[in-house]
Amino acid sequence: MNRENNLTDRYGRHIRYLRISVTDRCDLRCQYCLPSGFTDFSEPEGWLSAGEIERIVNQFSRMGVNHLRLTGGEPLVRRDIVELAQRLSAIPGIDDLSISTNAIRLARLAVPLHRAGVRRINVSLDSLNPATYKVITGGGRLEKVLQGLEAAKEAGFAPVKLNTVVMRGVNDGEIEDIFEFAVAKGYTLRLIETMPVGATGQDAQDRFIDLETIRKRLASRYELIPDILPGAGPARYYRVAGSHAHIGFITPLSQHFCQTCNRVRLSVEGDLFTCLGDEHRYPLRPHLRAGCGDEALSHHLRKAIDLKPESHEFNDQPTRVVRFMSTTGG
Ligand code: SAM
Repeated sequence: MNRENNLTDRYGRHIRYLRISVTDRCDLRCQYCLPSGFTDFSEPEGWLSAGEIERIVNQFSRMGVNHLRLTGGEPLVRRDIVELAQRLSAIPGIDDLSISTNAIRLARLAVPLHRAGVRRINVSLDSLNPATYKVITGGGRLEKVLQGLEAAKEAGFAPVKLNTVVMRGVNDGEIEDIFEFAVAKGYTLRLIETMPVGATGQDAQDRFIDLETIRKRLASRYELIPDILPGAGPARYYRVAGSHAHIGFITPLSQHFCQTCNRVRLSVEGDLFTCLGDEHRYPLRPHLRAGCGDEALSHHLRKAIDLKPESHEFNDQPTRVVRFMSTTGG
């Protein structure tokens, strides 16, 4: 690959990772993400088609991006998700295609997605108590998620990761149970600090827990050895002594990881967001729909990457980011 063609931002970070929110719709209403009763979704005619997403990814891949993650909203509610995955995994240079899902629809889709080239999967799971799960997710059924997880393992996804947002007074008392479940099933657990995003931001602040307190609590019960996992991204991992099990901590607030951030995010409406905790966006859809050529598209991607800030502003301006996580997919 021509290195000069690489996408590098103003702070010298090479952009290698694109997260694509393939829909902003979701079949759950997690308290920290979408408020219940929320209906202000984007309209389908504004959504990027599979062909438009493929075009953008093709250009990104020529500029050094090799890792894609499909997210949402809930990516499995998009009807052409399997076809889209197939088209994206076939793009030269894309050597890692993963998906983040709530797993409600995964039991049926695990095999088709794996056949389409998706290899790694992250599943959101904030509680193993059906009643608590229902409250957190605004009505979700835990047994569907558990069926989806089994299907993912059988389909051959490796690794299967669980993402758990830790919330004071909601699920902080059951982290050990979730951890032991993950270890028993061979899943990697990642704990995530609640981020102040969208209209749910104030709640997130009230429920915020610095994950260092949880790490210390777990370390008093299990022997945790710092470890490095390939492609670990922002998580800091520990191996549980005497096993192959790992636990990761994602701490965007208490210990941010902006200096190594190599990712950007594409919304379903074709806006490129260069930081999860910042309002900068660069609209690509008008250029695509006006028929711009590859060179022009590459120029727009570079201009967008120039907007990437040195670090997010969650701590300085916790109420500033007004969009919802479903727009950018976490
Ligand atoms: N629906 C998919 C899922 O459940 O993974 C993909 C989208 S979801 C927005 C991606 C991740 O963002 C989930 O793990 C979710 O828990 C996390 N997330 C959403 N809002 C968050 C917040 N305010 N703070 C921390 N994590 C959040």
